[in-house]
Parts: sequence; structure tokens; C-alpha cells
Amino acid sequence: MNTKDPNHLYARYKSIKITEKIEQMTMFDVAPDFRLHSKYLNGVFRTRAELAEGLREEGRDQIYHVLSFGGGTQSSHLMEQHLRGQIHYDYIVFSDTGAEPEFIHEQVEWWQRRQQACGNTTPFIITQHNSMSGGLEEMLMRWIHTDYQRFQMPVYCSSLDRTTGEIKPAGMMPRQCTVDFKIIPVKQAVRRAVLQKHGLKPNQKMPANVGFIIDIGFSYDEIRRINTDQSPQFQYIRLAYPLVEENLTTQDSIQFLEVNQFPTRRSRCYLCPFNCDGDRDIGMDWDEIIEAEPLSFLKACWFDAELRRVQLGGTKIMNSIPYLHHSRRPLAEVYATEYEHLKGTHASRLNQWVNNWRHAIEEKWMKEIAA
Ligand code: SF4
Repeated sequence: MNTKDPNHLYARYKSIKITEKIEQMTMFDVAPDFRLHSKYLNGVFRTRAELAEGLREEGRDQIYHVLSFGGGTQSSHLMEQHLRGQIHYDYIVFSDTGAEPEFIHEQVEWWQRRQQACGNTTPFIITQHNSMSGGLEEMLMRWIHTDYQRFQMPVYCSSLDRTTGEIKPAGMMPRQCTVDFKIIPVKQAVRRAVLQKHGLKPNQKMPANVGFIIDIGFSYDEIRRINTDQSPQFQYIRLAYPLVEENLTTQDSIQFLEVNQFPTRRSRCYLCPFNCDGDRDIGMDWDEIIEAEPLSFLKACWFDAELRRVQLGGTKIMNSIPYLHHSRRPLAEVYATEYEHLKGTHASRLNQWVNNWRHAIEEKWMKEIAA
């Protein structure tokens, strides 16, 4: 029996129920191959070529290819492939979540300059959430200051047993922010751009022969994050994962950027609960935020404390106690030394930010409630 035969190997993976872990794939000394993965075999996603074929079968022969650009390592890798003519895009779109660190905005600008220097003229659109242009900061401030109930961030939760007073870990809130503040704004932006190109208004229907394939920069090691290649909002939009198709890992992209001396910071929000520390190193961490953007760290500490204050007030449908840090302890307590020091040096800027937001929320969302 040929033990390197893909069918034989897949049968072995299946039989011991470990089809979704790369670590186990390496046990068999096999390079990652998305075609052997259950997500692909079960039709959770298809390749760019298969998606394009499917759209053409539906009569959508005018297909626009879009890069959802996050300014971090993986989508930068795709951007460079585009600049080298290896992958075609009609649009590059960056959706600003309103909470990216300044160093990510600097990386986005760096790539815009590189695009110009390469003589590449693909339209580069910067967009944001439709109704909350202040992004995640606005969503959280609205949740804190008004009766707004929707909460889209994957915070760590604890639950309180009211009889015994015991506080226990209670999972995480669902991660909806990536979809709401990154992916949907990208779809809306390219939709508007293409309607305009066809001489149509934003509220008009997309021509029946138009389809979109939006590339998302997930890597092979993030394959578990792929849930679909269909857009729930728009039937003519498909989602593709070219780095997965290339069987490339996050580390491959970082290495590629390093070798070429391109920027290598991972994209994320400064307050993202997936920020780590110590031995939970996944490439984005609180230390980096503390060091590079002390004010952003203080903002995260402020949000962290406010979320619990409001939740304990009992006016929200959120039943669990929220934390931004994985230890389910206040962020200001986890980094007590840094917090005390920075609070002293940045107090007035933090207060100004808090006050500016309070006024902005009163102006925009409280008037709407009163009306
Ligand atoms: S980086 Fe974190 S907080 Fe920001 S959109 Fe993604 S999951 Fe949400």
C-alpha cells in the first residue's frame, strides 16, 4: 500500500477524527494540502476557479475580484502577489474598524505608497461601518452610554452563581465584529463602486451578469475560521481564501514579508480580546500595544472596566461578566505597574477622548432615541 497516497492518508485522518489540525498532519510528515481538509471535502469552501465557474454557470460572466485588505501580514502577502502580477484584483478595500492601532494605519499607507511606486492603478478604497463610522469604539461607547443592546465583540465571560457567590469562567461572546466591521463594509463598498461604474445608484439592483469574488487573507493554519464561501447578504458575492489554496501558513507570510523587508505587524484592534501575552504568543500581544501605543492601552483598560460596570447595572441583555483579558481579570490589574505609570502620564488625553466620545454619542445616538 502506498502510504503517501492522498486517499489512504485522508482515510487515516478520518479514522482517528483529527481532520482539522495541521499539527496532526505533520505527524504523518505530509505538507498541508487544503484538498484533503474536511472543510474543502465537505464543500464549506471552494477554490477561486471553482467559484468563478459557479458564477458563470449562473450567467454572471462579469466577475470582479476584490482583495479585502487588512494591512497585516496575510493580506499584505496577497497585495504583493497582486503587485507582482501573480493574482488579479479589480479593487483593493481596507475597512477601518475604528480601533486599529496607529501602526496598522501606517502599514496601510506604506502599502498604498508601494502600490503607487509599482505603477499599479487598481482602485484602493478605504471604507467603514455603514451607520457607525467610528467603528468598534463607537459601538462600545453606544453600548455604554445608551440603551443599545447589540454587542459584537468576542469578550471573555464569567458567570456569577447568585446562591453561592461563586464566579466561574463562562466561555466567550461570539465574534461578530470581524463580519460587521470588516467583511460587510468591504462588500458594501465594492457593491457601490461597481454600481457607480455601471451608471447605477446605490439603491439600484446589481446587473444580472455581475458577480464578485472577495479574497480573504486567512492562512492554512486558520482554516477553522472558514465557515462559508457564500455571502449571506448578497447572492452574487462569493468569498475565497487564496492563501489556503496555496497551502500557506501565517508563518509563511511573515517569512515572505521579512525576506522582502516589508512591514510585518499583525493587524488587529488595540482592544482585541485575542491579544495575548507570555506563553500564549500568537503574534499579537498586549505588550506591543503598551509599548507602541500607551494611550490605546489605557483606552482598552477604560473599556474593560466600563463594560463590567454597565453589565453589573443590569440594563443589558448580557448576563455574563465581560473581560478583555483571557485571564478574566481586569486589564488594569493584569498590567498594574504599566497601568499606574501610564495613567499618570496620559490622564488628560484619556479624559479628553472619553469626553469627546460622550458628546459625540449624545449628539448622534441620544437625539435619535429622543426623536
Ligand atoms: S481584531 Fe479582534 S476586535 Fe478587531 S474586528 Fe477582529 S476579532 Fe474583532
